[in-house]
Parts: sequence; structure tokens; C-alpha cells
Amino acid sequence: MDPIEKKPLNHFLPGTAVLSFGTEGCNLSCKFCQNWDISKSREIARLADEASPELIARVAKELGCRSVAFTYNDPTIFLEYAIDVAEACHEVGIATVAVTAGYICEKPREDFYRDIDAANVDLKAFTEKFYREITGAHLQPVLDTLVYLKKHTNVWLEITNLVIPGHNDSDKEIAGMTEWVVENLGPDVPIHFTAFHPDWKMTDVPPTPPATLSHARRIALKAGIRYAYTGNIHDPERQHVLPCLRGGAHRPRQIRADRVVLRKGSLRLLRRALPGSLRGPSGGMGRQTPAGPAQGLRRVRSE
Ligand code: SF4
Repeated sequence: MDPIEKKPLNHFLPGTAVLSFGTEGCNLSCKFCQNWDISKSREIARLADEASPELIARVAKELGCRSVAFTYNDPTIFLEYAIDVAEACHEVGIATVAVTAGYICEKPREDFYRDIDAANVDLKAFTEKFYREITGAHLQPVLDTLVYLKKHTNVWLEITNLVIPGHNDSDKEIAGMTEWVVENLGPDVPIHFTAFHPDWKMTDVPPTPPATLSHARRIALKAGIRYAYTGNIHDPERQHVLPCLRGGAHRPRQIRADRVVLRKGSLRLLRRALPGSLRGPSGGMGRQTPAGPAQGLRRVRSE
């Protein structure tokens, strides 16, 4: 069970809990994968519990989660299962979230996103060279998925860009990427610049300095992005990400929109000013996280 902001999604049911789960394997082979023990494992190598779609939906409901997230590895590889889980979740009023690299063909893309309410798509870089050499995938299908989600679905979309020193952190690349987002998806799609930590086959690259993320965020704002965030670090500039919260002094590390604005007495103002899915009853972090994995489900670490 995670805060929804950890996916990261800052404009979707803020302040609520999400039940996260994944399977094994992945359709990409990112050299920096921070979930490599999951994404590179074979099913036989792991002791994984079974969970029916109905069980996942029921557990989410019982724990007080407002949504279920397909995460840790890419839901593209367990698409049929994810669709069944999404349908079961909708049956009991639980929203669905995809955390994905967006590398998927056209037809399955349509099938998958029919039952998804929000997505965080990892735009890993803005060059074909990076995608081919570092991830084993290609850039254009990911861009196609982003355009599809924005223009042909009602899925709430946010983007994550993991900034890796010396590989995708040039001003030129970040400017090009954010300008493309503004031009093709509009200025209201939030972007999260997150910090890389050495892992898997990329242990020779240093962690991302916080200043690099702040700099990337400033480039994005200059390009016209309205909601640019930094992640995996403590960033003193984060308080300025919500223009409607003037000065931002009341913004906690993770957005709790309801609480923040109620304290300021301007709930309706925030909900008008911020794009995203902010409706519904006040958020909450659900029931206390149980000491062990929820019945029938195992707990894994977050991406
Ligand atoms: S970083 Fe994500 S998309 Fe890449 S291999 Fe790991 S799980 Fe798959």
C-alpha cells in the first residue's frame, strides 16, 4: 500500500492510498532498472502468490485504497490479467493506475487503456540512441502512446523522466523533450524529474545531483510545462510547483490537496485551478498498513 503520490501521480486522487502490485519480467531491458530482481526474474525463480482479480479488488477495498496500481514491472507483459483486475476493481468502485514505459503496440494499447483511469508513463529519454542502447526499446512507440492517451482517451496522464547523469541530462535533450510535450500533449500534463541511483548494470554512473533535477524542472517550466516536479530528493524549490497555492508555504512533501486547501479555506479554488482527477470524498491513507502482506498478496518494494 502506497500513497498515490509515490507512483508518482500528483493530480489523481491526491492524499489517497493505492494498492500496488506487479508480476515478473518486463518487455524492456533497462540497464538502470531499480526493480531488476523482479523485472529480470523468471517465474520459477520467485515464490509468488496467486491473486485473482476479485481478490485484489476486495483487498484494495478492505484496506481503504481508492485505487489499484499495476507497477514494479511493466503491465504490458501481463495485459490480459491487468484488464481482468481493472474490470474487477471497477465493479467495486476502485480506480486503476498503470505505471508503465508506454512501449506497446497499437491494438493492445487500446484494449489495455479502456479500463485504466490514470497512467504514469516513463519517458526515459528523448533520443532513439538512449532507448536502443540503454533500454532495448524504441522512442517513437512511447511517444505514440503518450499522444494516444492524451488525445484519444480519458486516462489522466502524468510523465516521469528518470534523469541519469551523462546519459539523458543535457539541457538540449530536456528542452527538446519538454517542448515536445507542450506542443503535442499540452502544458497541463505534469512531469516528474526523478533521481537515478546506481543499480543493475549501471553501477558505474553516479547518482543524480539534486541540482540537476531542479535545473531540469526550470527548463521544463521555461518550455511552458505548468506542473513540473522533482522526485526521489528533497527539493526546497518544490513548494513552488503549485501556482494556485501562492508562495506554497503550506505544501507538504506530498500533496494532500484536500487538507492543504481546507486549511487555507479555498478548496473550490484549488479544484478549479488544478487539472486532474481531484474529485470524490476526501482522501485518506486507508486503513493502517498491516504488519505483513495483505492476505493472498505479497509486498514488494516500490519503483
Ligand atoms: S526500469 Fe521499468 S521498464 Fe525498464 S526494465 Fe525495469 S521494470 Fe522494465
